[in-house]
Amino acid sequence: MTYQNYSLKQLQQIDAAHHLHPFTDHKELREAGSRIITHANGPFIYDSEGTEILDGMAGLWCVNIGYGRDELAEAAYAQMKELPYYNSFFKCSTPTPVLLSKKLAEIAPKHVNQVFYGSSGSEANDTALRLVRHYWVLEGKPEKNRIISRKMAYHGSTVAGTSLGGMDAMHKQLGGAVPNIVHVMMPYAYELALPGESDHDFGLRAAKAVEDAILEAGADKVAAFIGEPVMGAGGVKIPPVSYWPEVQRICRKYDVLLMLDEVITGYGRTGEWFAAQTLGIEPDTITTAKALTSGYQPLSALLVGDRIAATLVEKGAEFNHGYTYSGHPVACAVALKNLEIIEREGLIDRVRNDTGPYFAKALQERIAGHDLVGEVRSIGLMGAIEIVKDKATKERFLPSGSAALTVRDHAIAHGMMLRATGDTMILSPPLIWTRDTIDMACDRISKALDLAQADLRKR
Ligand SMILES: *Cc1c(COP(=O)(O)O)cnc(C)c1O
Repeated sequence: MTYQNYSLKQLQQIDAAHHLHPFTDHKELREAGSRIITHANGPFIYDSEGTEILDGMAGLWCVNIGYGRDELAEAAYAQMKELPYYNSFFKCSTPTPVLLSKKLAEIAPKHVNQVFYGSSGSEANDTALRLVRHYWVLEGKPEKNRIISRKMAYHGSTVAGTSLGGMDAMHKQLGGAVPNIVHVMMPYAYELALPGESDHDFGLRAAKAVEDAILEAGADKVAAFIGEPVMGAGGVKIPPVSYWPEVQRICRKYDVLLMLDEVITGYGRTGEWFAAQTLGIEPDTITTAKALTSGYQPLSALLVGDRIAATLVEKGAEFNHGYTYSGHPVACAVALKNLEIIEREGLIDRVRNDTGPYFAKALQERIAGHDLVGEVRSIGLMGAIEIVKDKATKERFLPSGSAALTVRDHAIAHGMMLRATGDTMILSPPLIWTRDTIDMACDRISKALDLAQADLRKR
């Protein structure tokens, strides 16, 4: 790579001249210039000036085994030399997606044994949406095609992903969503629980919203419910423990399929391979991507439960859907090596028994008490910090979202990458973090909170 021949300024100018970025205000970007990350190692990323930043977001929720893993580069190199590409259409296959499918069936919940590949989480959700509707057609119930989702859900950014998702700002630019998808309330107790309502009761009430939506349409018109086990991009919203079992009970009662979007929670983040196992529920589809390759290659896997798979095989009708890169041999080789490393290093057990509990305790003991913090919460190695003006009343700073951006900017300036979404700071670090890394993160976040508080007082 020859980027070293360019100065930071030059790279920023070229970036501004030619590169349109995702979810970016390009006027602002041109004024500020992009932050250019040039290399990374272990839990750290480095910019072109050599500044070291602790990556509290694992890239974008994906680099679970951390940066600088030669083994993944070697797996890709070997596969590219042997067979860089062949398709899985027309009754063809290649070895790495075959072996990855076997591995995924082993680690997925027992009743989940089939895999459909794409290159991104959005594509996998497009597949999932089409697959559940196709399923009901094959079952002779074509009118059972409504999908229930949730406000603030994030299911990707293609037309299908945006339609399934519940982000208003995205829907506004969609010019017409995929029909027959409705959005119900999210299980977000911090803002939505009634005064005096327990977490448990709130969880049941949020689940009841799913039942109400089923009854409103009529159960014979509803194909499926889709949800992230823990809403990620929407602000690491962890539902009360009463929520998911009740949602599953309701889905079963009305014969509505259950679709879990585990693009963030998959591959160890909550302390099990999948959050379905953490929550003890049995979804009909599980969307996965991101950490499947730890982000080293673009790859998604829609895990399909036996109920849907059996109908597909029995009825034999062609599912008219697929991608050129479905089951890409190089991406699958990298995924196999990534899963091997997660297992070999015991990263999931570590999250469940050591770093997850330590992370929760550190957030409670070292962050929750800060004047700017309304609540901290975490599950496994994903966490959230609510930024408030007043702890007791939960009043926020205005304009909405501005305080969290102030915290974020101070954090990055002090070597800590974390994200602000609305008034919530979110964390989703690599699973290689140790107790020491967690301590380092808390030091830097505390510092950022102090500095942000001083700024916000001045305003
Ligand atoms: C990131 C994400 C997606 C979309 O994945 P892409 O690879 O960006 O298309 C879908 N669902 C969830 C829950 C996500 O976090």
